[in-house]
Amino acid sequence: MVLVRNARARRYVLRLRPDGCVRVTIPRRGSAIEARRFAERNQDWVERQLQRLIARPARPKEWLIGTEILFRGQLVKIEAGTQGDNGVILFGGGVVRVNDPAADLRPLVEKHLWRLAAKELPPRVLKYSSLHQLPARRITVRNQRSRWGSCSHHGTVSLNWRLVQTPVEVQDYIILHELCHLREMNHSRRFWREVERVCPGFEAAERWLKQHASLLR
Ligand SMILES: [Zn+2]
Repeated sequence: MVLVRNARARRYVLRLRPDGCVRVTIPRRGSAIEARRFAERNQDWVERQLQRLIARPARPKEWLIGTEILFRGQLVKIEAGTQGDNGVILFGGGVVRVNDPAADLRPLVEKHLWRLAAKELPPRVLKYSSLHQLPARRITVRNQRSRWGSCSHHGTVSLNWRLVQTPVEVQDYIILHELCHLREMNHSRRFWREVERVCPGFEAAERWLKQHASLLR
């Protein structure tokens, strides 16, 4: 809770900031104690506003030239194409064709990242698959909204293309996590023991993913 004094305010005013923090304006001759009481009395209103804030989906932000986005765990800037070529932009050592460099570049850059992921991730799945004798039947790289990867009973390992935005160690962890599901189709203790064995750094990777949960919306 943030208390703000405003000599021109005539009464206590409660507001919920976009970050979910409660803000109370204290009028002239008002007190912090009274402000807190006021907030407590209006707890139901705060709860309702909070629910609305959570329910509202975050608007996808535009990606423009100069926007920095995560690529292999690093913030990388989207750059204008080389002089004279308005039909391309540069990103992370790659060239992306665009119609209008001033428009929202997100759909095209995302497609570019998806293509990269489809090229880079399956060979690594195959590598770990044979290294640990966890044979995957099929590998797909998909546009999953809410998860980094999945593994089906039929042996299909699906990975989220957004993994190219994460550090290589995190990519490896997700690949190994899904491969371990070929042996244990659950998150039992046995499963995690298996993960720990093939990917000792998995806890750091889990932490990174938690800190960057906003990559998945
Ligand atoms: Zn799992």
